[in-house]
Amino acid sequence: MKTAILGGGLSGLTLARLLLERGEEVVVLEAEPVYGGLCRSKSEQGFTFDIGGSHIIFSRDEEVLDFMRRMIAGNEQRNNRNTKIFYKKKYIKYPFENGLSDLPPEDRFACVNGFIKNLIAVEKGEIPAPSNFREWIYYTFGSGIAECYMVPYNEKIWKYPTDHMSHHWVDGRIPRPPIEDVIKSAIGISTEGYTHQSVFSYPLDGGIESLVQAIAEPVEPFIRTGFRVSSVTKSGAKWKISNGDENILADQCLCTMPIQHLLPCLKSVPAEVTHAADALKYNSLVSIMIGIKGQVPAISWFYIPDPEVGRTNRISFPSGYSRHVAPSGCSAILAEITHQPDDEVASQSNNELVQEVVEMLQNMQIMKADQVVYSSVERQPFAYVVYDIDYLKNIAIIRHYCREIGIPLIGRFAQFEYLNMDGCIRSAMDFVAG
Ligand SMILES: Cc1cc2nc3c(=O)[nH]c(=O)nc-3n(C[C@H](O)[C@H](O)[C@H](O)COP(=O)(O)OP(=O)(O)OC[C@H]3O[C@@H](n4cnc5c(N)ncnc54)[C@H](O)[C@@H]3O)c2cc1C
Repeated sequence: MKTAILGGGLSGLTLARLLLERGEEVVVLEAEPVYGGLCRSKSEQGFTFDIGGSHIIFSRDEEVLDFMRRMIAGNEQRNNRNTKIFYKKKYIKYPFENGLSDLPPEDRFACVNGFIKNLIAVEKGEIPAPSNFREWIYYTFGSGIAECYMVPYNEKIWKYPTDHMSHHWVDGRIPRPPIEDVIKSAIGISTEGYTHQSVFSYPLDGGIESLVQAIAEPVEPFIRTGFRVSSVTKSGAKWKISNGDENILADQCLCTMPIQHLLPCLKSVPAEVTHAADALKYNSLVSIMIGIKGQVPAISWFYIPDPEVGRTNRISFPSGYSRHVAPSGCSAILAEITHQPDDEVASQSNNELVQEVVEMLQNMQIMKADQVVYSSVERQPFAYVVYDIDYLKNIAIIRHYCREIGIPLIGRFAQFEYLNMDGCIRSAMDFVAG
């Protein structure tokens, strides 16, 4: 049996490897000249950056974590996470609710007071169950944490109003912090959140792309880069996949590319399905990569909720993840700006974006402009799935249709789910396991 896999990102390559290991015939069709999708990295002038934003290897899923760590065995640096939030010119411990003692006293009071009053009201049944993400934030954290951090940061990263977002994806995923932890955090007794991330791995050489290269290694001969799928048709029992010049025949067709790219490749898609896909929300990303002479703070990455500080939502320091990703005496800084696919950021020049970030980093006293020895900008049209209020309705229509026509959807923008690398690998493993 021959399987054609549309898209050569982490999901497509993992699927290909697992199917090949079962003795099946595969072909991976990737539009770009290089495979890897969001997990590509770029090495220039001694610096290596992940072009789809800063990536680290972590997971609660032990089988998947073990798989990823096996893939980079011999090329792994283990790190303790030291993540912060830049708030009112101070670095606050992350997650915010575990860093309350770092806040100015009046904000610390607002957060604890808001948390306790809200908890009492919830326990007394005075607050109805949340109907959107914004309400969920207030319901879970109270008004202080909501207004100081959760609402501004989430609106900055998603580029979408939180009261127009669904909360189904955080239910159960982010629990309400225990009151003991909030009190401890406010009075300065150390507590930890998101412990599944507290130790993470990163490839010593090659950036995150070396993970996908290792996964892809046995399937390299079966990857067709520069093959932009433009039509997918069923011809008898076979799938015929074309880029306009060449046809590939396969018994099975798996989609890991964005569903927004799949649907235009299909014939006679019902209007209801096309409308559902048009209504799905996602955002794009600009990665601004800066190499400097000198040192940076000993922080893994930090979040910037305040729009006044800059449009950047996250700054990471990859030279802290691996000592090989910057030349000796230099450091690497990666700024991420999420944006809507066609907004003003999309049309801004790379120079303007670099200048903006350098200025912001100077204002934060992280570096001076004359330390910059390298800069570069990369853009990803599909970065994050945004769960708007109509998401569940729309995605159900699309999934139903793809199931009917027999094209399984696997991966971040094929499933259209907020999947990290571990979630993509889990989807591929589960698919292959049947
Ligand atoms: C800013 C950011 C930070 C992240 N950080 C982390 C992290 O720290 N840890 C973690 O585990 N995960 C992280 N992730 C998530 C991770 O990047 C994704 O889960 C993973 O890369 C998704 O892989 P994929 O193969 O499903 O999709 P993609 O990487 O999007 O691959 C899809 C592929 O399809 C190809 N394609 C599109 N159209 C066509 C066409 N017409 N024909 C052929 N090919 C086509 C694309 O070129 C692409 O290569 C992060 C994501 C972002 C945006």
